[in-house]
Amino acid sequence: FCELQERTIDDCTCNVDTVDHFNNVKVYPRLRSLLTKNYFRFYKVNLKHMCPFWADDSKCAMKYCHVEACHESDIPPGLKGVLRTKTCASDASSTKYTSSESCDDDHNPELGFLNTTISAKAEEDFALWQAHDDAQDQFCDINENDNKAEYVDLLLNPERYTGYKGKSAHRIWNSIYKENCFRPENTYRAYIDSELLKGMCLEKRAFYRAISGLHTSINIHLCAKYLKTQSAGGLSLTSPKGEWGPNIDEFIRRFSISRTNGEGPNWLRNLYFLYLLELRALDKASQYLQKEEFYTGDEAQDWDTQLAVQDLLSVINNFPDHFNESVMFNGGQETKKLKREFKEHFRNITRIMDCVGCDKCKLWGKLQIQGLGTALKILFDYDNYMPKPKQYKKEFKLERNEIVSLINSIGRLSTSIYELDEFRQMSR
Ligand code: FAD
Repeated sequence: FCELQERTIDDCTCNVDTVDHFNNVKVYPRLRSLLTKNYFRFYKVNLKHMCPFWADDSKCAMKYCHVEACHESDIPPGLKGVLRTKTCASDASSTKYTSSESCDDDHNPELGFLNTTISAKAEEDFALWQAHDDAQDQFCDINENDNKAEYVDLLLNPERYTGYKGKSAHRIWNSIYKENCFRPENTYRAYIDSELLKGMCLEKRAFYRAISGLHTSINIHLCAKYLKTQSAGGLSLTSPKGEWGPNIDEFIRRFSISRTNGEGPNWLRNLYFLYLLELRALDKASQYLQKEEFYTGDEAQDWDTQLAVQDLLSVINNFPDHFNESVMFNGGQETKKLKREFKEHFRNITRIMDCVGCDKCKLWGKLQIQGLGTALKILFDYDNYMPKPKQYKKEFKLERNEIVSLINSIGRLSTSIYELDEFRQMSR
């Protein structure tokens, strides 16, 4: 029905069987365990931003859309910015740093000289321009440092069927595909399909495949954790207990060849494409992540987390068929413009997440879009940064929320591939 007759993954060198085996045996069990660690459990998010594009058209009335934010006492002390003492090798006296600062953020004598020569006003203007330029250069427009952002325990608020559908959900997907994905000029078709993709360049195809892969993943999760009937008489969305389990009919409705104009299997393959893209990003950032402390304030658990991350990274490093990002954006002036557009489109999608009318869907939508944005930042911006002491270029940095969203996003994709295999077995 939606069996992948074609086993290749478009724009990648490996096939579905290689990924299934690698993911289900090696990656999925490791991520499952890693994502229970405190560092990855708590995600800081603002679910109260106004939708910047249209008047909020829906508030999900179902209780399954609700997100429970953490109480202050549930949050690990290290995530609340508690100061700790750390001694820098180059500095005999011990200095206090917040958990997000590192020793090499040291005073730069060159900048110190400049600071004394430019006026406070010029300095302020410079900071504003810098912030503006930096924002234009980002993939994501997500600011979790505002005072309305709250920590959410992801394990207590799992992604699953919520009942969010209809006009509001379609408006989001519509505006993503029709207005924010690249499309060939003069096309009147509502959705991009495999025919249209053939005429597009690799970068634009990749953009669409990544979004479609995310859409697939979200929809597989809601099929795998569907609200089950209480009685034999059909679905009860008001089930007081709420029990979730796989719903094969729902899966077939969404992905079968006959019900999707032949596109279902392509959407499933796009999930594999996105998985390979994010896996490669993780591989590329492995040196950076190996130095990360995963600080939560609990020394034993932080050490455990470091070891678990290293183990995962070494497994991923041995994957033989990584996505090759170097073939993208490497053609001079034209591709610089394309990369700028790519970032603009993607930033817009991060803003659209504020228009999702179900808090649970918004939480996981934001997290996964931020995770994908972080993967893109690693794939396409990492090489532009220089390690110190070449002071003229900035140092590459990932914020805690970027790391948390990246690993959780890969966890979501990895789980989808695992669940897809279960659906295949159920249908045999
Ligand atoms: P939709 O999934 O709404 O799709 C709309 C149209 O897009 C389809 O008719 C088809 O033409 C096309 N399409 C479908 N799949 C793909 C694909 N993979 N690639 C390309 N095109 C495609 N619901 C939950 O129950 N739980 C959640 O956690 C959840 N999270 C969500 C997060 C976001 C950001 C959004 C926008 C929606 C979320 N939803 C969630 C809703 C869910 O994704 C569907 O929109 C909803 O179930 C209605 O499904 P549908 O069959 O009408 O088609």
